Amino acid sequence: METQAWQEALASIKKRLKPAEYRNWFGVLKLVEAGSGVARVQVKDGRFQEYFAQKYQNLLEEELERHYQQPMSVEYRMADPELFDYSKTAPAPAPQAVPAYTFDDFIQGPSNLMACAAGKAAGEKPGRAYNPLFIYGGVGLGKTHLMCAIGNLAAQIHPGLRVLYTTCETYLNDFMAAVRTERWDQFRSKYRDQVDVLLIDDIQFLSGKERTQIEFFHLFNALHAAKKQIVFTSDRPPHEIPHLEERLKSRFEWGLIADIKPPELETRIAIVQKKSEKLFGAPLAHEVAQAIAEEVVDNVRELESCLSRLQLEIQINETQVTVKAVQECIRSYHKKQFKKISIEAIQKAVATKYSVPVEELTSASRRRELSQPRHIAMYLARKLTGSSLPEIGRKFGGRDHSSVLAGCRNVEKALKLDNRVVQVVDELEARFRR
Ligand code: ADP
Ligand code: MG
Repeated sequence: METQAWQEALASIKKRLKPAEYRNWFGVLKLVEAGSGVARVQVKDGRFQEYFAQKYQNLLEEELERHYQQPMSVEYRMADPELFDYSKTAPAPAPQAVPAYTFDDFIQGPSNLMACAAGKAAGEKPGRAYNPLFIYGGVGLGKTHLMCAIGNLAAQIHPGLRVLYTTCETYLNDFMAAVRTERWDQFRSKYRDQVDVLLIDDIQFLSGKERTQIEFFHLFNALHAAKKQIVFTSDRPPHEIPHLEERLKSRFEWGLIADIKPPELETRIAIVQKKSEKLFGAPLAHEVAQAIAEEVVDNVRELESCLSRLQLEIQINETQVTVKAVQECIRSYHKKQFKKISIEAIQKAVATKYSVPVEELTSASRRRELSQPRHIAMYLARKLTGSSLPEIGRKFGGRDHSSVLAGCRNVEKALKLDNRVVQVVDELEARFRR
């Protein structure tokens, strides 16, 4: 579907960009439909979309507005597989039990030294070194990577050993399915009989699931008694997981508890270099790697996506990898991310989630049922928009910065204690970060 206004908008954009830039970014864009202020466009994949949205969405919306003569916002669709014929180029991957992470790819540093050493010991002598091994730490710090590396090492050293990697979510789903169908034989065989090493990712999600916890307690005892290795990851230590049976907490503490902290600068540089070798075929100049590691501080996953944006930028715009180019790439990305999310949009989303009118959320009312959603909205505004406390206060009915701060602190506290708050905040945050 190509309307005339669309064609005209593209023609204007063409005049404003370098030919290669236009060809690579707009030449491959397909209009799916346009109407009532929205233009849906089809893009090749998620990476393309992320970069395009960052760099060209404003330009596209501006030109669309001019030619459709109304404000237009762009929405994305992934390519229909037939159109791009992914089926021919990429056959479906064979199902793989444990994701292919290894110790070789894992950079050690002071932040993860103990977890790494314990993990290697558990992989070498499953069931005999630390059982269970409980690894905890923040998002994107390598918990899943390390856990899978343990499983893969164990399988490599001890051929025939059956390693099962599963997320807590899958376990919960399987449990519910067993309850529904009463096929306990399948459930037990999968988790108990067919397993020598059990890896369960994000065990904190057992929180509040009472029935599952009872069954899980028995599974744990059976595996442990049979000296089968169990490894858990979690975003927090056992005693901080809310609504988890005491006896499970104490079982989780039987073996070894190791945390992973955010990596220090030196470790981040080493990670950047390791990933760059894979991505670019060679390490980056030291000062470039250092510039990246200095900009991106608290999350390894973020480091990775930064590198892949950089790769795309270099490839398409044929830029040189200099410290300056890297800094610009990262900073413009951060700024754009902030700019796109408005305090109003956050207020609206929170109000909808809690079924309260936005006007009440931003009113002076001190009604108790308003305080939690209001605080969550403040917290998200602070975290996602980069606005200052006074700015946020103004948008919440002219409150001063100290009440915004107090609201944010309340949420931080609740995030440690109340699983429902964790869920709501995670869900809203994920929606905005998408
Ligand atoms: P988590 O499970 O803690 O959220 P992941 O294990 O999914 O984090 O790690 C996020 C990404 O960062 C993965 O691609 C992983 O390979 C990478 N990563 C994390 N820590 C390291 C490290 N120390 N060395 C190399 N890569 C790492
Ligand atoms: Mg993980």
